[in-house]
Amino acid sequence: MKILTAPHMERCIGCHSCSLACARLVHKKLSWESAGIRIRSAGGLSTGFYAVRCLGCADPFCVAACPTGALIRRRGGGVLLREKKCIQCGDCVQACPVEGIVQDRDGRIYVCLQCGQCVDYCPHDCLEMREARSVEPGEVIA
Ligand code: SF4
Ligand code: SF4
Repeated sequence: MKILTAPHMERCIGCHSCSLACARLVHKKLSWESAGIRIRSAGGLSTGFYAVRCLGCADPFCVAACPTGALIRRRGGGVLLREKKCIQCGDCVQACPVEGIVQDRDGRIYVCLQCGQCVDYCPHDCLEMREARSVEPGEVIA
């Protein structure tokens, strides 16, 4: 199983195409904040951008924090969300050490499902699906 990595963020131009692709194709929304991957400025125009997303923890804090079993471990790393079980408490958001999960103003939860649909929409090949390996919580995958 592969997981999403962001090995070439030095090429990122902050166009948010990956986030928009995720929002549109995966979450059926039009806002780039309603996505499993979000691009943030590292501080200024000259310092570049970084990708905030689920890093595919092997032993996810978010799963442990969920009181309803709505988040389940994905084989190969990361998590899957069973929306019908989610009570929108936000405990998973608080538990993730890398802000990998977000909650919109309606309470809906967004997390990267490691599907890789965003990869093809990045104009500078910043993103890549790579074979999963053991990833520690908070570890930054190059
Ligand atoms: S704790 Fe965060 S980084 Fe780890 S699996 Fe959950 S969402 Fe992903
Ligand atoms: S918001 Fe939903 S997915 Fe997150 S911990 Fe609460 S019930 Fe689980």
